Amino acid sequence: MNTVRVRFAPSPTGLLHIGNVRTALFNYLFARHEQGTFILRIEDTDTERSDPKYSDAIIRDLQLLEIRSDEGPYYQSQRLELYQEAFERLEKQERVYFCYCTREELEARRREARTMKRPPRYDNRCRILSDQERRQRTAQGIRPTVRFKVEVKEPILIQDVIRGEVSFDPGEMGDFVIMRPDPQGKDRLLPTFHLSVCVDDGLMGITHVIRGEDHLSNSPRHVLLFQALGFRAPVFAHLSLIHGPGGEPLSKRYGALSVSDFVHEQGYLPEAIRNYLALLGWSPKDNREVFGSRELEEVFDLRNATRHPAIFAEQKLMWINSEHLKRLPEEDYLTRAFDFLQRKGVSVEDKDAALEVLLRLQKDIHRFDELPQLFSFLCSEQIYEKKLEEIFGSRGEVHDVLVSGRNVLASAHSVLKRLNSSGETLFEELFRELKKEVSEKGKKLYFPIRAALTGETCGMELKQVFVLLDTTRIVKRLDMILRLMKGSVP
Ligand code: GLU
Repeated sequence: MNTVRVRFAPSPTGLLHIGNVRTALFNYLFARHEQGTFILRIEDTDTERSDPKYSDAIIRDLQLLEIRSDEGPYYQSQRLELYQEAFERLEKQERVYFCYCTREELEARRREARTMKRPPRYDNRCRILSDQERRQRTAQGIRPTVRFKVEVKEPILIQDVIRGEVSFDPGEMGDFVIMRPDPQGKDRLLPTFHLSVCVDDGLMGITHVIRGEDHLSNSPRHVLLFQALGFRAPVFAHLSLIHGPGGEPLSKRYGALSVSDFVHEQGYLPEAIRNYLALLGWSPKDNREVFGSRELEEVFDLRNATRHPAIFAEQKLMWINSEHLKRLPEEDYLTRAFDFLQRKGVSVEDKDAALEVLLRLQKDIHRFDELPQLFSFLCSEQIYEKKLEEIFGSRGEVHDVLVSGRNVLASAHSVLKRLNSSGETLFEELFRELKKEVSEKGKKLYFPIRAALTGETCGMELKQVFVLLDTTRIVKRLDMILRLMKGSVP
């Protein structure tokens, strides 16, 4: 039996986005499930658009999601002689020819075809150029491309795991470019994506090509090249595209987010991202939704990949993330939560109290970026003071709540001085006393105190705030607010 060999072949022209990371994951899961080999190949032959900083970022992001390659990374820019050799082979077999049509000429012809409602395919005119015409074009300074002759007449069939057998009419396909002059001016030819993909898939013994549906129309060209180069064509699996929640193409907002944004900025767990991405275009037979990483490898079956477009829904991703958060062992959860807070510049003064709150929040939060706000009141008094300066520097909700609750705050301040307790007891005693002293109730009573102690109008339970801040700090904060209000309120 053929052992499975698959590859993820990103072009390093940008960061890894949801769409391409899903392709990587499907390849990886398929390889693991089939006990095959997963290869990473960086397709960097486009010297104008490729950048090593993106290759590095892609490799880092795959590591972040624990999508580990068994082979590679191979860099196509280091394999140029293999493509050159393939080209020479095709040239000897007279399967290719030089094309001197300029970009402008091709564009003008495409425009014309569109107006005449003809398919905009290349008309193969350079197939029959005479030597003299070639010399003339060269003398005009035109650097030719190399085109592969599409000579078959019968339909080209590809086998696709997701779509079944797909048939393409070669009559709609013009001869296509497989080598082009190096745009950076060096006097050499570089392979186009079609040639380098087929040479590498062939040489690397790739058995299954799993990639986005946007490549489906390239596959008949690839089948022809595989045949011409003497390779057996792989089985294909073209994954349906990912759309936004309303069925529109994935928006700039989500489409442009890189993996590290999801993890480091928004605070998603890598295993939750993997879990969610696996469900984008695939569903297990039993419709289960939450999977650990190993479980996914066991159950993933490419044959259950769906044909219709997958919909990216942030709410679902958040829900899956919260499920993974709940399942994390305490210590692991705490380490990651603290790392996130640290990355966001939130320093926690009273670590023991913070641990306690973090543990309480484990079952409530959806992702780590909810933590800094919940935690800001725990920060050093210095940060707290800065926050107050901001609040009193310009009017906003918190400012208004404080000002209108001045009476409550002043009473709370004097009650607190009489009380001699802390934590939950302090909270209960304070409000029991306050209810006797002031007429305000409900929100009007609780909001000003929350705003004074945390600088926010929402967040964790107020009782928890009393557990976290010791009595001296609570009194100090009320002191400060009242002082500030004397100065700021007319
Ligand atoms: N380098 C191509 C891309 O990034 C992938 C080609 C393929 O998977 O065949 O779109």
